[in-house]
Amino acid sequence: MANNSEVRVRFAPSPTGDLHVGNIRTALFDWAYARHTGGKLIFRIEDTDKERVTDEYIQAAIQSLKWLGLDWDEGPEVGGEYGPYLQSERLDIYSQWSQKFLDQGDAYYCYCSSEELEERRQVQMKNNKAPGYDGKCRDLSDAQIEQYKSAGRKPVVRMRMPNGETIFTDLIRGEVKFEHEFVPDFVLARADGSPLYTLAVAVDDVLMKITHVLRGEDLLSSTPRQIRVYQAMGLTPAQYPVFAHLPFVMGQDNAKLSKRNGEVSINWYREHGYLPEAICNYLALLGWSPGDDKENISMTELVQLFTIERVNSSPARFDPKKLEAINGDKIRALTLDKFLEWALPFLIKEKVITGTPEEIAIVKSALPIIQERIITLAEIPAMLNFLFVKDFVVAPDELPKIKDEGSQQVLMVALAKIEPLSTWNHTSIEEVLRSALIDELGLKPRIAFSALRIAVTGSHISPPLFESLELLGKERSIARIRAGISK
Ligand code: GLU
Repeated sequence: MANNSEVRVRFAPSPTGDLHVGNIRTALFDWAYARHTGGKLIFRIEDTDKERVTDEYIQAAIQSLKWLGLDWDEGPEVGGEYGPYLQSERLDIYSQWSQKFLDQGDAYYCYCSSEELEERRQVQMKNNKAPGYDGKCRDLSDAQIEQYKSAGRKPVVRMRMPNGETIFTDLIRGEVKFEHEFVPDFVLARADGSPLYTLAVAVDDVLMKITHVLRGEDLLSSTPRQIRVYQAMGLTPAQYPVFAHLPFVMGQDNAKLSKRNGEVSINWYREHGYLPEAICNYLALLGWSPGDDKENISMTELVQLFTIERVNSSPARFDPKKLEAINGDKIRALTLDKFLEWALPFLIKEKVITGTPEEIAIVKSALPIIQERIITLAEIPAMLNFLFVKDFVVAPDELPKIKDEGSQQVLMVALAKIEPLSTWNHTSIEEVLRSALIDELGLKPRIAFSALRIAVTGSHISPPLFESLELLGKERSIARIRAGISK
């Protein structure tokens, strides 16, 4: 471990689109580890590839972390001692280091063109050799260099990888060893001087005094190259950050989770009515466990319990159904005020309400009856629409279900029974309807109440019937049942 008593973890995405499940799982583990240890979370944007990492995506990444409640101690918007935290604002730093590596002899100019590299790679493959840079420009003579220069070639900067191996202890995978035979000399900076990931990431981790690198397993193979950069920067092994590579997240088809097998952006979940605490709870279980079978955990518990020892090295499987179930649990656990706060934007967006105080009061009285029934917030507008719709009509595809003789009889009996009611609440309504339809007519509840449900809410999927009738009010309920009968 670096000889720094304070834990400093970083989340360092290259947002080339909205952040996805995999990125967020990494961010969450970084955050949980920093908070558990009382250390610092550094949020660094790796945007040296300006063509792909746009400002819009950077902003979206910032908003996503905020929405999830993953706060950072240094980084965009909050600043910090080791900034700037956007790599595109640190280009001078990288070129100074790349120059230093050249001066020290750790790096060299490589003049090979991409066509030449490709040609040689083909030969390597044909001869069953590991493909990779063959060291052609390692020790060019002055004359050769002059020749390349006068031919107008622009060199890249390449790091010299010594013979031997890199061994390091990964906190999750144990000892990891890379034979340098398979880690060829690698490019640090392009011909235009722009840095590559390996240079920028390693330089920043050192300069930002990062003590722990928790990140996805896909980056494991870049570690020996990063360690090579640390060496060239003059660090001793005791000063390197400690690595912990988080297990892959697989899709339902057992292939690495990607857009192809169902990975969607965090914004998709947000728009589809998932709560941040549900997403964090579920993602926390992708590769980590609190130690027992407990699956419902709060952010506070996560912080208390999160240790790297409890991170598994085997791949985790992303199960959208489980995420749904957790989301339902978290919705049920909301206080009414919180639930209202989450529900309103969905109702307003779907134009069910405009947001007047009267409407909000109705929503507030209706929410408790649907809280048990929904899995996502996005279901709320369709569930509560019947309370607000101006010109109520039964959906055309539901209409045939109330036209048959049996349904018509249900509606007529129901109407006759509820019209004289002087107390209009769900208990009194339920009492008269049950005795008339179930006890006297001998109907099965599902059949008896389905016609009524469709007639008053417009759909066979609705909040509980008697509560719905209560909320709708006597006058409107009766008018709707009557309209159902004349159909
Ligand atoms: N910027 C890299 C990426 O998004 C990750 C850097 C790291 O964690 O080392 O893939």
